Amino acid sequence: MLDKTVEKFNNNINSLIDPFGRAISYLRVSLTDRCDFRCVYCMAENMTFLPKADVLSLEEIETLCTSFINLGTKKIRLTGGEPLVRKNVLTLIKSLGSKIGSGLEELTLTTNGSQLSRFSDQLYDYGVRRVNVSIDTLNPELFKKITRWGDLEKVLVGLKSAKKAGLKCKINAVALKGVNENELQSMIEWAHNEGHDFTIIETMPMGEITEDRTDQYLPLSMVRAKLRQKYTLTESEYKTGGPARYVKVEETGGRLGFITPLTHNFCESCNRVRLTCTGMLYMCLGQDDSANLRKELQMGKTGIELEDAIREAISRKPKGHDFEISRRASGPAVKRHMSVTGG
Ligand code: SAM
Ligand code: SF4
Repeated sequence: MLDKTVEKFNNNINSLIDPFGRAISYLRVSLTDRCDFRCVYCMAENMTFLPKADVLSLEEIETLCTSFINLGTKKIRLTGGEPLVRKNVLTLIKSLGSKIGSGLEELTLTTNGSQLSRFSDQLYDYGVRRVNVSIDTLNPELFKKITRWGDLEKVLVGLKSAKKAGLKCKINAVALKGVNENELQSMIEWAHNEGHDFTIIETMPMGEITEDRTDQYLPLSMVRAKLRQKYTLTESEYKTGGPARYVKVEETGGRLGFITPLTHNFCESCNRVRLTCTGMLYMCLGQDDSANLRKELQMGKTGIELEDAIREAISRKPKGHDFEISRRASGPAVKRHMSVTGG
């Protein structure tokens, strides 16, 4: 009996529980705010990026990740910007990958796919088993229009090499009104045919962009209703630890996810926090409160002291975001671009 109580106590001190009783076991880390694309919903065309001196070194990122793992983080997703354009990124992936099985359960990344043909084999060797690849259209001209700088062919070659290397790929597409709206069905069929899960994301009002977000916003309730006219969508219990809710498309046999921060708020089950490449820990994607973990590192904090700073931040995790895309002239809900916080 006493043993059980001690075990429970130890479990609690080695885990992060927020004020609403949610266990925080998932860390998303933005490795860089830079990217080789300029997607219209994510970045302005002439983005100003952070000075390199403001960005955490790979060693600092590893130290912070290690503290999180000590505090019960089971899943780490590397993102950005484009994580695979960060110089020497494989060094970090190798060292984080070596922690899988010792607290960490999964290391994964979200990528635009442009560098996958270079890196897929090593990603697999270092322990990565799943990647999310963002592809909003299979039309090369439209792809260029959406990403401004991207090359669809290169991404598709990257995707093939990821599959060949043994990485399970999930395709993420942001639903854009009047842009890829009519292509989503054929994309689902393509992805399922290739053996990939497919997830549709609602645009979130983050950062100033060139376009008007009210023009881009397409509620997924509408997408879902349209898909139901063609497919049988069966609710699924499948979970990846992220915010997507899944259905099975009976006609294709594949999985389809919906990430709906606006039409269906997913905050009540939030298990995530986000670390930016400058060391700011955001406890919520859609709120401004943060903790400066880089400062803690610069003050020489390591081990328990660093873990205490993380605990203090988690004690401020808010209940949820207040995203709303309603009034045309209203600015973004948060000033940070998605590429800064990490999607
Ligand atoms: N560059 C990588 C990529 O594109 O996959 C990783 C970073 S990107 C910020 C992560 C995900 O966020 C992508 O799937 C992207 O489509 C999505 N995203 C970016 N800005 C968004 C926004 N304002 N609303 C919704 N999703 C967004
Ligand atoms: Fe780059 Fe990803 Fe943002 Fe597109 S969505 S600009 S690929 S960070």
